[in-house]
Amino acid sequence: MSARILDGKALAQKIQQELAAKIPNLQAVKGRSPGLAVLMVGDNPASAAYVRNKERACAKVGITSFGQHFPTEATQAQLERAIKECNQDDHIDGILVQLPLPSHLDSVALLNQIDPDKDADGLHPMNLGRLVRGEPGLRSCTPAGVMKLLEAYEIDVAGKQAVVVGRSILVGKPLALMLTAANATVTVAHSRSRDLPSITRSADLLVAAIGKPHMIAADMVKPGAVVVDVGINRVVDAAGKARLVGDMAFDSVAEVAGSITPVPGGIGPLTVAMLLHNTVLSYERSDTFFD
Ligand code: NAP
Repeated sequence: MSARILDGKALAQKIQQELAAKIPNLQAVKGRSPGLAVLMVGDNPASAAYVRNKERACAKVGITSFGQHFPTEATQAQLERAIKECNQDDHIDGILVQLPLPSHLDSVALLNQIDPDKDADGLHPMNLGRLVRGEPGLRSCTPAGVMKLLEAYEIDVAGKQAVVVGRSILVGKPLALMLTAANATVTVAHSRSRDLPSITRSADLLVAAIGKPHMIAADMVKPGAVVVDVGINRVVDAAGKARLVGDMAFDSVAEVAGSITPVPGGIGPLTVAMLLHNTVLSYERSDTFFD
């Protein structure tokens, strides 16, 4: 392997240590610790693991968790009520609805109920609008984690060709906006893009947020490119053992790329770190507002 590894896990630990060091001083002034409410519905094991992970990370840095776990059959009205209570609770700075929700619930309608200044996931239309306008606000965690990693490794994207494969509201679209704000020339590719390999080969910075294991092969990558793998896919190997892999064919892409993020240990831990960062940002600003 010739590529440099961009170590998201180590950076996430550093961000969490910085938050842990900063919270006691703020707490002395505010008279309370920061609070994050994670609302989960049903028993999806992957979601339960993500929620546990977030609550553990909160405990480590000094954020109080106000988790609420609803049964699968919880109603839209119950969830709306819970969000309203969190919006009004002065001990809660960040609110997150763990996705995906059971299909009878309207997740977009629920996300829209969250107070934009407590929107720890940065997915409320107000915060997405602030991102479009280049105004301060809460940024969605995964793309913010990608930008943090680039910054930490002093990878300047200004004037560079960036290709983001994936156009979801969760990752691809907000990341394209953040890269544009950092003066990259951005192309967003998706399932209807023609001749994807020729698009990805033009990238100085290639980001995959697709959800297809090993889809980006070495011959789709420009030699020396910075490669960021957002994908998290569970695969079962020949021995029947489950493991997580990204959207890049890691071993072969790492022979061509200049820098690469691993999966796991890349963008995943940074997403959690940025969630904590957003919660603390709302806590710091809890007596003021973003606009
Ligand atoms: P998503 O909503 O399913 O979006 C996937 C995107 O990939 C879509 O825009 C889709 O195009 C595009 N796509 C699918 N097949 C393609 C193909 N053959 N060629 C080109 N583009 C293709 O997924 P997401 O929520 O953005 O998540 C993407 C991946 O990132 C998943 O593996 C997810 O688990 C992972 N993820 C990781 C983190 C983290 O913390 N690291 C956070 C969030 C998500 P269309 O729009 O045309 O359908």
